[in-house]
Amino acid sequence: MRYHNITKADMLNGEGLRVVLWCSGCSHRCMACQNAITWDKNDGLVFDEDAKNEIFRELEKDWCSGLTLSGGDPLFIESREEIAKLVKEVREKFPGKSIWCYTGYTWEELLKQAKTDKNLQIILDNIDVLLDGEFVLKLALEKLHYVGSSNQCIIDVKKSLEEKKKILYIDNSLIVK
Ligand code: SF4
Repeated sequence: MRYHNITKADMLNGEGLRVVLWCSGCSHRCMACQNAITWDKNDGLVFDEDAKNEIFRELEKDWCSGLTLSGGDPLFIESREEIAKLVKEVREKFPGKSIWCYTGYTWEELLKQAKTDKNLQIILDNIDVLLDGEFVLKLALEKLHYVGSSNQCIIDVKKSLEEKKKILYIDNSLIVK
């Protein structure tokens, strides 16, 4: 897997101050994507031990609320094995920190895929919040929390898996109304 950047004390991509990994690779190609530079899986830097340790050093800081995976699409098929290893390790080493993950796939698509994709299931079992779905320009709204368009949901992954139905972590529809 390759990545474009690791940003620190980020306030825009999840609750609190977070470390954000901007992964390379996305197959969704949404119109008006603000990160089209990250679509190419071969672009950016190799995600190696140094990059991982840079993230871990941030997570060790008291004020850091957790890790956000963004991109690109962190759930790009070819990145899933490495993302699965990363989230498992973060969960074990930093149990008090939350893991948020953006993706262009919908929750429903991911549940179907996870039946035959062990790495995706590991990812879902270890993240806290999933921000799902492609960016849809005609549904774009600036006032939404943490997502760009109103079709995208902010999902409480643990509760949703436990209760076998999609449960929102933050309900942006209250803002749209
Ligand atoms: S899923 Fe995200 S990164 Fe990929 S094209 Fe859509 S908005 Fe851009």
